[in-house]
Amino acid sequence: MNPTTQPNLQDASLLESVARKAETLAIRLGQIADEWRPAVFASSLGAEDMVITDAIVRKHLPIEIFSLDTGRLPAETYDLMHEVQRRYDLKLKLYYPRNDLIEDYTRENGINAFYDSVALRKACCHIRKVEPLQRALANRKAWITGMRAQQSATRDGLPLQQYDEANKLEKFNPLSDWTEQEVWAYIRTHDVPYNKLHDRFYPSIGCAPCTRAISLGEDVRAGRWWWEDPTSKECGLHVKNPNVVSIIR
Ligand code: SF4
Repeated sequence: MNPTTQPNLQDASLLESVARKAETLAIRLGQIADEWRPAVFASSLGAEDMVITDAIVRKHLPIEIFSLDTGRLPAETYDLMHEVQRRYDLKLKLYYPRNDLIEDYTRENGINAFYDSVALRKACCHIRKVEPLQRALANRKAWITGMRAQQSATRDGLPLQQYDEANKLEKFNPLSDWTEQEVWAYIRTHDVPYNKLHDRFYPSIGCAPCTRAISLGEDVRAGRWWWEDPTSKECGLHVKNPNVVSIIR
């Protein structure tokens, strides 16, 4: 059993903290929906993203939810997509990479070229994630992510709100101050569907060939691009920006 995904639901202080943060989350999302329309939520279908999805659907907020289907996701992620669409009766919008870019990349470099160099890994992430994200964010005022400050060295100090210079719109991280235990306590107490790989020690799940299980005590994102330097590995979707403001608390 993975103790991370099974928090102690007899712990009154944990439940109290989750209830308080869930209330704050609903308020934050409501404010974003009101003040930054059209806002979208980019769901990677990770545990945090399922908390936000649940909160958006519960409040019937006018925030579109989309995911990026890179074409290399684990089968368990597709299972979850299907479950989410059915359980919440959700029109989950999926964005796909451009065929021509994928065809050129794989012909030139090989189907698994992301293992060969950081540059080729980043090029693959750009084609399969960054470019589709740019299309998903076009003509939006704000986007929402499920990132938390505690997730990794690259996310330390993550604010609740920041201006996304790369994509030219506001970006909100409403779970930035949540702990992993709080995320899982929310999932368990609200019966939220989640990716079954989490129970098998995959705290952070991306594409299948670039994600592995971790050992207890390892950094939450140690299983992502594990062959690279941990202080610099991000997919390009979340560029750290020093130009930070925090309006919503
Ligand atoms: Fe490509 Fe791996 Fe990035 Fe997925 S995570 S887009 S397979 S390099």
